[in-house]
Amino acid sequence: MNEKEKTTGGISVNTENIFPVIKKWLYSEKDIFLRELVSNATDAVTKLRRLASLGEISATDTAYRIDVTLDKDAKTLTVEDNGIGMTEEELKKYICSIALSGAVDFIQKYEGETDGAKNGIIGHFGLGFYSAFMVSDTVEIYTRSYTGAPAVHWTCSAEGEYEIEADDKESQGTEVVLHISEDEAAYLNSAKIQEMLQKYCAFMPVEIYFDDGTEKKEDAKKQPINDTTPLWQKSPADCTEEEYKDFYRKVFADFKEPLFQIHINADYPLNFKGILYFPRIASNYESLEGQVKLYYNQVFVADNIKEVIPEYLLMLKGVLDCPELPLNVSRSYLQTNSYVAKVSAHIVKKVADKLLAMNREDREAYEKVWDDIKTFVEYACMRDEKFWSRVKDALLLKLTDGTHKTIQDYLEAAKEKHENTVYYTTDPSLQAQYIAMYAAQGIQIVSFDSMLDTQFAAFAESKMSGVRFVRVDADLSSALKNDTSAADSEDLRALFRKVSENSELTVKFEALKDGEVPAILNVSEASRRMEDMMRMYRMSGGEEAMPSFPVDTTLIVNTASPLVEKISAMQKSDSEKAERFASYLYRLAVLSQRRFSAEETQEFLKDSYRILTELAQ
Ligand code: ADP
Repeated sequence: MNEKEKTTGGISVNTENIFPVIKKWLYSEKDIFLRELVSNATDAVTKLRRLASLGEISATDTAYRIDVTLDKDAKTLTVEDNGIGMTEEELKKYICSIALSGAVDFIQKYEGETDGAKNGIIGHFGLGFYSAFMVSDTVEIYTRSYTGAPAVHWTCSAEGEYEIEADDKESQGTEVVLHISEDEAAYLNSAKIQEMLQKYCAFMPVEIYFDDGTEKKEDAKKQPINDTTPLWQKSPADCTEEEYKDFYRKVFADFKEPLFQIHINADYPLNFKGILYFPRIASNYESLEGQVKLYYNQVFVADNIKEVIPEYLLMLKGVLDCPELPLNVSRSYLQTNSYVAKVSAHIVKKVADKLLAMNREDREAYEKVWDDIKTFVEYACMRDEKFWSRVKDALLLKLTDGTHKTIQDYLEAAKEKHENTVYYTTDPSLQAQYIAMYAAQGIQIVSFDSMLDTQFAAFAESKMSGVRFVRVDADLSSALKNDTSAADSEDLRALFRKVSENSELTVKFEALKDGEVPAILNVSEASRRMEDMMRMYRMSGGEEAMPSFPVDTTLIVNTASPLVEKISAMQKSDSEKAERFASYLYRLAVLSQRRFSAEETQEFLKDSYRILTELAQ
């Protein structure tokens, strides 16, 4: 083409104009234009590298690179690569004639769809390059093919009118110049561009340099902004713990060290890689929101895509690189894609395998992290039965003495004394009396420290037939009782009902092994769970909001206690004194079962002082 000769044309094929359509449809995620241009540049370099590796061109020692340059004065943003370039024919074929009709049909069909579906259009129809028009008035391309064909210069206005002319560009590759429109001046902000590059291009496989004109040229070009060989691309055998931790810090800016990680390297046919970290959760109350970043050949696609990774695994932090998925994923595409379902299943399996392996091979380390991962594991089990079936043998119970046992081991040990029953406490200091009684009989108590534990217990019961989780104050294990039977006393029953101010109170007489404890209160597991649920609904919370005492309460009077015997005798000689004793005793039983209200505390203290005064006389 002679330098004077110009080709002109219009991009529009059979629609008025594709540009207003692109602008309208991609409004919500404009930032992706930079990702599209830089990934086109990356592709151009990758293609050249491939030709070299196939021996189709002689290998050169060219340092492949992409330069992103911001020129505020000229109001341009330029993306330049030294990749494969385009001949004039290629430019016309790939850039000037796009499959518009298909795109327009698609857009019409999905009018009113979610943003995800809209974004799918761009990649689907090879419109990536055109996203440049979301932010530009005019876009120019200077390109020279690796074949040595003459360089060309393409200029296209926002109305879709283009011009092609010869150019004297000498270096091979492509330079795309965006003339940023007035409305989109935000894209002339260096910090904004750097942020976008960090988000989308931090791991692209070709070195990317950013220059905003503020530094001396040599300085600005020293360091690429990206890491071209991210850790997930390495073989797990070649990665060190330090590298995993560094990578985590860098990607998630989280200075709490992760607990451990799973490096997935799935071969054909799944063909994806990734590293998933179990983050350290500082407290029960901290949000469990993780972050799993999805990449397509090292190009960032999106965060937390539920369709690729099950929602309950989003508590993890990590990266996944799925080259089998299109760069522009749409939710509706992912939901129906069988490949995605397989990837998701594979990830779940890998996470489960890791827990099983740790339990089997490094139990000490596993116990150390268990308290931190417990919430996640329990939640995952409840959300996905498959996950539960896989990991159930590696689920640990934390005991009040600080040690851990798998559910299976606990049940095995329980066989003789309390078969199929797991005793637990939700408050070791409040429930100390009960725990001590069980401990004296060699029964181990599981320590629950969150609401989720209790919900998980109910879930586990539904999965393991016959197994029950019982709070220490809910049930009197036969292991705590003497073999001798205890005689009922109607008089005593009436007395306790009177002092408890509950004429319906269930009073049971039992001969306990521990003779020191005169009476204990039990609240049935079922009615307490109901009460807990009600409380959750009410969400009243706080110390002030005392729970209304659940109805199903039983006072167990220990006939093996000498004190009880004395009160019984006292009833005949001094009924008033017997009443005072019974009242005090009842309140001691309440005290080890729940917290007193302010009024109850006052009353109890007053009574205690009175008794001490009497004793001192
Ligand atoms: P896609 O990348 O999805 O195919 P694009 O609209 O982004 O769609 O690009 C269309 C085509 O233009 C590309 O497939 C490629 O052949 C060509 N192209 C775009 N950018 C470059 C570049 N920087 N270097 C060489 N060719 C390019």
